[in-house]
Amino acid sequence: MTHSVESRFIAIISGALLVVVAPLFTLFLALSSQQAAQGISEHVDVVISSNTQALGKPLWDLDSDSIRQVAQMLVADPMIHAVQISDTTGKLNIFESDPGLTADLSGNEARSQAIVYKSVQGLREVGTLTVYIPVASWFSGLHQSELAFISIFIVAILTVFGAAVFGNRMMVVRPLMRLTAAIEATRRLGSRHHVDWRSNDEMGRLAKSFNEMQALLEREERELKRAHQQTIEIYNMTPAMLFSLTTGDTIAAVSDYWLQATGYRREDIIGRHFPDLVYPADRPLFDKRRQATAGEGMPIEITVRFLCKDGRQMSALIAEADLGAATGHPAGSLSVMTDVTELKQSELRNHQQAISDHLTGLLNRQGFEAALDRHIIDADRLGTRMACLFVDLDRFKAINDNHGHAAGDLVLQEFVTRVQPMLRNADTVARLGGDEFAIVIVGEDTEQRSGELCQQIMDMFEAPFRIEGTSVRLSASVGVAFYPEHASSAAELLQKSDLAMYARKRDGKNGAKVYDPAILTRTREKAEIESDIEVGIAANWFEAHFQPIVSIESGMPVGFEALMRLRHPRKGLLPPGPLVSVAEENGTIGEIGNLILEDALANLNRVQRLPSLGNAYLAVNFSPLQFEPGLPTRLAAMLAHNGITPDRLVVEITEAVLMHDDPQIRRVLNELHDFGCRIALDDFGTGYSSLSYLNRFPVDIVKIDQSFVQSLIGGDTDVERKSRMLIEGITTISHKMKCKVVAEGVETEQQRRQLMQIGIDFAQGYHFSRPREINDLLADLSGSAGMNSIAS
Ligand code: C2E
Ligand code: CA
Ligand code: CA
Repeated sequence: MTHSVESRFIAIISGALLVVVAPLFTLFLALSSQQAAQGISEHVDVVISSNTQALGKPLWDLDSDSIRQVAQMLVADPMIHAVQISDTTGKLNIFESDPGLTADLSGNEARSQAIVYKSVQGLREVGTLTVYIPVASWFSGLHQSELAFISIFIVAILTVFGAAVFGNRMMVVRPLMRLTAAIEATRRLGSRHHVDWRSNDEMGRLAKSFNEMQALLEREERELKRAHQQTIEIYNMTPAMLFSLTTGDTIAAVSDYWLQATGYRREDIIGRHFPDLVYPADRPLFDKRRQATAGEGMPIEITVRFLCKDGRQMSALIAEADLGAATGHPAGSLSVMTDVTELKQSELRNHQQAISDHLTGLLNRQGFEAALDRHIIDADRLGTRMACLFVDLDRFKAINDNHGHAAGDLVLQEFVTRVQPMLRNADTVARLGGDEFAIVIVGEDTEQRSGELCQQIMDMFEAPFRIEGTSVRLSASVGVAFYPEHASSAAELLQKSDLAMYARKRDGKNGAKVYDPAILTRTREKAEIESDIEVGIAANWFEAHFQPIVSIESGMPVGFEALMRLRHPRKGLLPPGPLVSVAEENGTIGEIGNLILEDALANLNRVQRLPSLGNAYLAVNFSPLQFEPGLPTRLAAMLAHNGITPDRLVVEITEAVLMHDDPQIRRVLNELHDFGCRIALDDFGTGYSSLSYLNRFPVDIVKIDQSFVQSLIGGDTDVERKSRMLIEGITTISHKMKCKVVAEGVETEQQRRQLMQIGIDFAQGYHFSRPREINDLLADLSGSAGMNSIAS
């Protein structure tokens, strides 16, 4: 480079000299030498002609000495190199030359002239003078002054040339070389080198600008480095697991914290394919993460299991930002990884808790429904059937009430302990809540196995449950439904088995029932009744109809039984049977009971105003559920409100009320009795009909069930005889226990007479009167003005 600038510079100057100066110089030389040559030629001519004249005589005389003198004189002329003088006769030949000149006269011009002598004979040629003069060269003719001028000219040109080259070297080449050296050093050493050059010219300004630029760049580089350093420090020291991936998902960088948390070493991990560190099952999820991106520019978030150095699995929430998103060019990604292992575990624990029953450790309803869903998928896939057993313990509430909830819990746990060995691995058992359990049976022979399991469950209750020293007997109602025959979904299967269980409960509990469509019909009917009850309560559709209870001998009414009716505006008068059982199930019986009681007391108020009915009593049917602790107080208030003394109220109960010897019911019964009310044992003769009730409870009246009365006459004589004996027995014992006896369902005079013979006290039945709406009854009673017409 330097070489080329300088050599070009020299070439340019040399070119200029060659083109302009050299031709001029040559022309000058040519002209000068031509002029000089002409001068010499003229001078020599003069010399020759003068000497030929002078030589005539000596040559004629052959005076060689004189001739030699002339020759020597001629040679002394600086223009003449050599002289040859010869005579025509050939006797004389004198040659003289400059000293040092060789005999070789090439390169000299010879000029000859004949020497003539004017003798007496006239002009005679005596010889020849030959002069050798040098051939005129370019410089030979130049004068001293001209040569000096040329020399000065050349020196001047050389000086200018030298000065130009020197100036160029000093002003241009040197700073350029230093600039180049600085650039070269910057390139080689990486540090910003400055040019050591100071001048006031363009080069000086260039060097200054260059140095300023270098300084600026140096500063910027320093700042850039600092910023880079800072970025690295932030990256590494941020207490978060940061990592960067290339577009090919290899690890480009990781933060210190990341290394600390995962246990890897930086040198081992950089350049590794990140998905290799993801738990194999989660890799497809990781690879597909970009497809599931939430929105443009939003970081991608996924949770995968990450494999730490020590083999530990870390649940890692990865939030990944695409670094190329802003520019549109692929540029890898930056991610923050958060260890959510604890969170996941607690989530799992929470989920586990959410789907399991804390008392038994079984699945709860939610967990069971999910399991059922899974079983259904399997069953569909394998084309198998499935049975769902809905198990509800009978009278479990009584255990809770009588023995406390802890005892109830023990019973539930004991039940689970007994059931579990009966199941196979694939089967699932769950506690749906309270005393409700569900079992799903999967695989082969589900129908047969479900039947066997129902039997096993029934048998299991043969053995009493031991709690706190005592033992209790239990039973269960089981409903069974099959998939896919009875249901198309988990929820429906559970619902159908539940319906079947309810149907079993209605049919007397303690047993199993397989779902059939009739159950659903009954359920619909039940739902209709429920809605009738609900509307009936709100719209006051309930009425207490009265059926007289008469003295069997006189036929005079001694009291009235209040019988529930629902006056439905569209369906007409509804009987109490279905209403009561539904109301007992859904708990509305208490409310309905109160409505009936109020209506009945009001009716009694009207009836008692009739002559001879001032002391008539009122018998009201009570459901077991109505025997809550507040009953006696409420009843007392109602009686007082209607001006009726307690002894005129008969509380009719069935043995269902007494059967379980519930302390609370016993207490309420005793309170009512102490208060003055009388207790009638209804439907006696059905069920267990234990006469010991009379002993254990404050019973005042026994009502013999109508089935006995009806079988007294007109049937099998053996049955007639036995019925009669039973009635006689019950009557005798009841009387012994100071109880009055009422015969129900007396429809004929014949029955009345027989019952009278047996010694029954009172009778009730269509023979005397059907249950009547109060206004009808009042009209009848006042119209006939006596019991005789009732009996008619
Ligand atoms: P129950 O207490 O045994 O009532 C007597 C039932 O026998 C009444 O049926 C009555 O109409 C019927 N009956 C009376 N005389 C004769 C007769 O000569 N022949 C025949 N075949 N039947 C006769 P009802 O009114 O349908 O009541 C049925 C059951 O509903 C009652 O049986 C009672 O257990 C219950 N019940 C009625 N009203 C109430 C109430 O207000 N509360 C509660 N908890 N249960 C009630
Ligand atoms: Ca009754
Ligand atoms: Ca009865």
